[in-house]
Amino acid sequence: LPEFAFLGRSNVGKSTLLNRLLNRKSLARVSAQPGKTRQINFYQINEQFRFVDLPGYGYAAVSKKERAQFAAMIDRYLIDREPLLRIAQLVDIRHAPSKDDVEVHAGLRTLDVPLIVIATKADKIGKSQIDAHVRQIRKGLQTDVRILPVSAEKRTGLEEIWAILEADLDNVVPIEE
Ligand code: GDP
Repeated sequence: LPEFAFLGRSNVGKSTLLNRLLNRKSLARVSAQPGKTRQINFYQINEQFRFVDLPGYGYAAVSKKERAQFAAMIDRYLIDREPLLRIAQLVDIRHAPSKDDVEVHAGLRTLDVPLIVIATKADKIGKSQIDAHVRQIRKGLQTDVRILPVSAEKRTGLEEIWAILEADLDNVVPIEE
């Protein structure tokens, strides 16, 4: 089945966004304690595609060894992942991208998979600030990939995400019998 992968720093709002996209209250666990999702979770949707919830990176309170293990787990999933249609990297719209956001983005760009950046928690800044923050993220990540401001809380930007994922699915060429 085709897959869409989501990743970002712990606490970026990934679980909340996945729940909103799927219109569920608690499919992806929203964790009170950041850094708790330590495995890759797959959510199968309508026997059509899967959402892949990759563990949050950049959580300071885990050991160096554990960080390396997460990174290896994510790499193992991403590399040569044939069904993967797109990777969504989540960053917090309020802040310039962190060092690990920048490193992860650069790594993702070396893969041959379409990317999108989702700038989360857009409700936390004023509407008039959104464009400037998106520019700041673009500059920090040094990227030309699409950056979508989204608020899971206020449910804005979700349709734009779905439009992109649906277009990806439409591009999947069915295998002839
Ligand atoms: P994860 O660690 O990336 O899965 O992050 P969570 O989904 O657990 O969210 C981390 C925190 O950010 C929680 O307190 C959420 O309620 C909050 N949060 C997530 N999305 C939004 C959003 O769109 N707006 C606001 N204001 N808060 C959010």
